[in-house]
Amino acid sequence: MPAMKEIIAGVPRYRHFIGGQWVDSTGKEIIDVENPATQEIIATVPRGTADDADRALIAARNAQPDWESLPPVERGRLLHRLAQLILENRERLARAVVAEQGKPLQEARGEIDGTALYLTYAAEEARRITGDILPSDNFDEQVWIQRVAHGVVVGLTAWNYPAALTTRKMGPALIAGNTIVLKSHEGAPLSAFEIAQLSVQADFPPGVINVVSGTGDGLGAALVSHPIPRLVTLTGSVRAGKEIFRAAAEDLKVLRLELGGKAPFIVAEDADIGAAVKAAVASRFENCGQICICNERMYLHERIADQFLDRFTTAVAKLKVGNPLEPVDVGPKFSAAELGKVERMVATAVKAGAKIRVGGRRLQEGDFAFGYWYEPTVLTGVDNRMPIMQQEIFGPVVPVMTVTDFDEGLRLANESVYGLSAYVFTKDLRRLMRLVRELKFGEIYVNRPGGDAVHAHHAGLRHSGLGGEDGKYGLDGYFQKKTIYVNYA
Ligand code: NAD
Repeated sequence: MPAMKEIIAGVPRYRHFIGGQWVDSTGKEIIDVENPATQEIIATVPRGTADDADRALIAARNAQPDWESLPPVERGRLLHRLAQLILENRERLARAVVAEQGKPLQEARGEIDGTALYLTYAAEEARRITGDILPSDNFDEQVWIQRVAHGVVVGLTAWNYPAALTTRKMGPALIAGNTIVLKSHEGAPLSAFEIAQLSVQADFPPGVINVVSGTGDGLGAALVSHPIPRLVTLTGSVRAGKEIFRAAAEDLKVLRLELGGKAPFIVAEDADIGAAVKAAVASRFENCGQICICNERMYLHERIADQFLDRFTTAVAKLKVGNPLEPVDVGPKFSAAELGKVERMVATAVKAGAKIRVGGRRLQEGDFAFGYWYEPTVLTGVDNRMPIMQQEIFGPVVPVMTVTDFDEGLRLANESVYGLSAYVFTKDLRRLMRLVRELKFGEIYVNRPGGDAVHAHHAGLRHSGLGGEDGKYGLDGYFQKKTIYVNYA
């Protein structure tokens, strides 16, 4: 069978992975994959067509009944095996992530550990796919509620965690008995193909895992509007979420949409300032600020604001930006478009009166002549209505406001269309008890930096999405329920 890739004019050209085979696209067009630190073209992938979508979905549909009829523990065994292979290839996969996405190597290694963990967690759930048996209101009757697969799942992933988001979809979809067609992001599609390659080694039946590449409005839209899949799971922007919501309406498909965020970071006057500063830096600048749960806007109590800002800006100014293969804190932005967006957002804020406390410009001299670099930046003098306080920055820039009390912090935090994550630093238990009801975010970090747990629940409220991932609630979304009334009189 053809290989995953062949070298053409010195550049690897990847194929789609459909029905257990590496296949050429039905179209001729390709997409260049660029290293954001060097602007070098490191690979090309197919710009998949509607025919490719059709082929992949038919392969997934053909494989699904046999896959679902396996004992779940057998499905789990294969997921464990794939997780093991991912860990055996940790360094190689981490370097693939650095090359296609730009995060520092030590962070990419962490991503690969997470990539394996999503599969291991799903595999561990194999013996807990439970249903219910209820007594009936009638004589000699029972009511059974069983969880069964949806059938074929379409997975669409963002570029910021190209490997981990792949298995965050695959793990729960597959353990539940679904088969999957995964389209990774067109700008960072390589690690998903590498995982598909490892699935061959793990001995997955053909058609259970299919990985294809293409654009959102091309192949992505064709997958979403196709009649075969029953469930579409997206990690991506609010824009894509809305488009998919509309497209899926025609066939009333089930959706899981994990979208953008604009996390507030509230520091009360009783907070441990040292811990808050450390968490604020980590939660903003990890992965160059390109995480849906990043600290995107800060509200500091006026009594500690000066002290906090001094320590915070000092720490931000010390962050080392540079080649992600070396020990640095911050790598490049992902793309020219992403860098341009951040530059424009800062310029608009400054024009409206924001003050640059540190950073504030694109880096392009010397080592930064190639690639998409932006200085870690802190802005003050902002107000809550400014676009920089309302729109997702997704970069190494954080705007900071001062508030007069905790209530004002909560109110301003909630004045947003987003509702994914929020951060609060306080030692006051009465305030903490208020967060559950009053802070309208799906994931709240109290007195600690961000970082979600595989067995918890990662879910955005309001425009940040619907559905939610991870843990028992995330897994439950990959099943549909059937109720059977059994009369044995
Ligand atoms: P994006 O929406 O541009 O793309 C996401 C995926 O959807 C890609 O594979 C893309 O090709 C596909 N797509 C786009 N439009 C489509 C359409 N109309 N039909 C079908 N497929 C379509 O997002 P991005 O730029 O890759 O990711 C950044 C966004 O993702 C940020 O907003 C970030 O906050 C969010 N994100 C959310 C989470 C979460 O768990 N909530 C995690 C990571 C990233």
